[in-house]
Amino acid sequence: MVGLFGRPVGHSLSPVMHNTAFEQKQLPFAYAAFEVNDDQIKEAVEAIRALGMRGANVTIPHKVAVIPYLDKIDPLAERIGAVNTIVNEDGTLIGYNTDGTGYVRSLLEETGIDLTEQTVTLLGAGGAARAVACTLVERGVKEIRIVNRSLERAELLAMALGSQIPIRVYSFAQAELAIQDSTLLINTTSIGMYPHIHEMPVDRKCLRPDLIVSDLIYNPLETQLLQCAKEIGATHHSGLGMFINQGALAYELWTGEAAPTDKMREIVLQHLQQGGN
Ligand code: NAP
Repeated sequence: MVGLFGRPVGHSLSPVMHNTAFEQKQLPFAYAAFEVNDDQIKEAVEAIRALGMRGANVTIPHKVAVIPYLDKIDPLAERIGAVNTIVNEDGTLIGYNTDGTGYVRSLLEETGIDLTEQTVTLLGAGGAARAVACTLVERGVKEIRIVNRSLERAELLAMALGSQIPIRVYSFAQAELAIQDSTLLINTTSIGMYPHIHEMPVDRKCLRPDLIVSDLIYNPLETQLLQCAKEIGATHHSGLGMFINQGALAYELWTGEAAPTDKMREIVLQHLQQGGN
């Protein structure tokens, strides 16, 4: 048994994605979502050990708060400062973060780009931005420019990323300047997410045909930002692959087997088209 700890979890597509994957590979696993309140995180984590569960996914708002209750934290999750996957290794609870690696795996699969050649503009400085940015630094991108509404939050992220590569901070008013000689633009804000599907985090004049445009949002599957990128002939990459791959990496940590990603994508797409999120 594996679980999902978060609040709210009722609309999560993770249970159907993982249960379909376990079924497809005929593995004796089941995935259940648990609504966990802020004051119950310790008990929820202890239940993994007490009930002999193989692990859990952790989602908003508990990705940071679970950390003190785990026995070990993987170095990347430690740098990100958040855990989205817990693995129970014979009673030792280990925390991982598969969000950034899931994102990068999907980006490389879908665009075939060389990360070491990328100057990245990252829109947003929240939890997802942090996971993506830490992983991009680890994978050797040339530079990261963080554009965020709260400059204080952007500065905190910049500090956390260290001095391995140049990291610069910009306001949204300076976004055009940041993007103009970037090669990869990543939207990690929630601007453009359902139901605000006509909103865009930056003006379309910031986009160029030679810019790779990536959006972490997967509801809608094609945001206004990605539609504009598509219209001008730019390479565009949606957040669906990140969702599938963060799940696939968690699946691989729990089962030790390759995840059936095509089947996972198929079932998630089916639910998104029926109005899930
Ligand atoms: P978060 O921690 O709450 O961060 C939200 C970010 O969006 C912050 O940078 C925030 O800026 C910015 N923002 C929100 N509304 C804004 C507005 N009206 N104007 C300007 N900036 C605004 O959320 P998160 O967990 O990082 O998630 C962010 C997005 O990533 C969501 O759309 C989520 O669905 C998506 N996501 C996708 C996946 C996937 O698997 N594809 C995984 C995780 C997240 P401030 O700092 O100024 O508030």
